[in-house]
Amino acid sequence: MNAHALSEGTYTVDESKNFIPFNSISDSIKDRPGSLLVEICPFLIISVEGIIIIDPGLGLKNKSGEFQIIKNLSQLGFNSTDINIVLLSHLHKDHIGGVAYEENGIMNPMFPNAQYVYQEEEMNEALSKLPSKSFEASKLKFLKSYKNKKELSGNTQFSKNIYCEISGGHTKNHQVFWFNTANKKYFYGGDVLPQGTQLIRKFAAKYDFNGKESAALRIQYGKKCAEENYACLFFHSSAHPISKVKYADGRFELLNN
Ligand SMILES: [Zn+2]
Repeated sequence: MNAHALSEGTYTVDESKNFIPFNSISDSIKDRPGSLLVEICPFLIISVEGIIIIDPGLGLKNKSGEFQIIKNLSQLGFNSTDINIVLLSHLHKDHIGGVAYEENGIMNPMFPNAQYVYQEEEMNEALSKLPSKSFEASKLKFLKSYKNKKELSGNTQFSKNIYCEISGGHTKNHQVFWFNTANKKYFYGGDVLPQGTQLIRKFAAKYDFNGKESAALRIQYGKKCAEENYACLFFHSSAHPISKVKYADGRFELLNN
């Protein structure tokens, strides 16, 4: 099993929840008052279960008119039809924008041979919140009506090596993924553990459904990863998307391997 980062770069996001590309060389955050910088990094997992994408990102095109995620895949020698499974931690638009795209008013799957996997209750909750700036209604409805999907209900041993665990914290039914093989172990904490630095700089985030719960979970997951030698996959960290962690004397350290 091997994980690869599919970094989509850096964006700014403000109250409107629109993601605008940010070039750290030519753009200045001062020109975008009230905005936060957000890095976006989906992952590719090559496993015996198949070729997997975790949280396919914003689904935006680059300047050449190609979908960034497809471009990133091609650089690793894959194309959209190679993907067998798409795992979704939760359904916020920055995580599921890349599940599908619209062409002439019709939604098409971005990965036509993949099964899309999400928590059923997460979907019910998201649909009940529409209209909402945090969700893209067309993508939610696409997933809900898509033929090749798997709706999980709670903690699920998805396959021999992949465990889907409800974490809550960020959204009510947010899930995290544990990948466990004889030679490689990965943990994907989604938006409960979106950046390695969040293990070091402790805080409760306003954007979480339950910020305190999320903060406590980060520590719990971080400790487990350190003890059991899992490499963490960080969705909102393009600079250091994959890192093992060390925990000693009450402190975390990122090993950035
Ligand atoms: Zn989120």
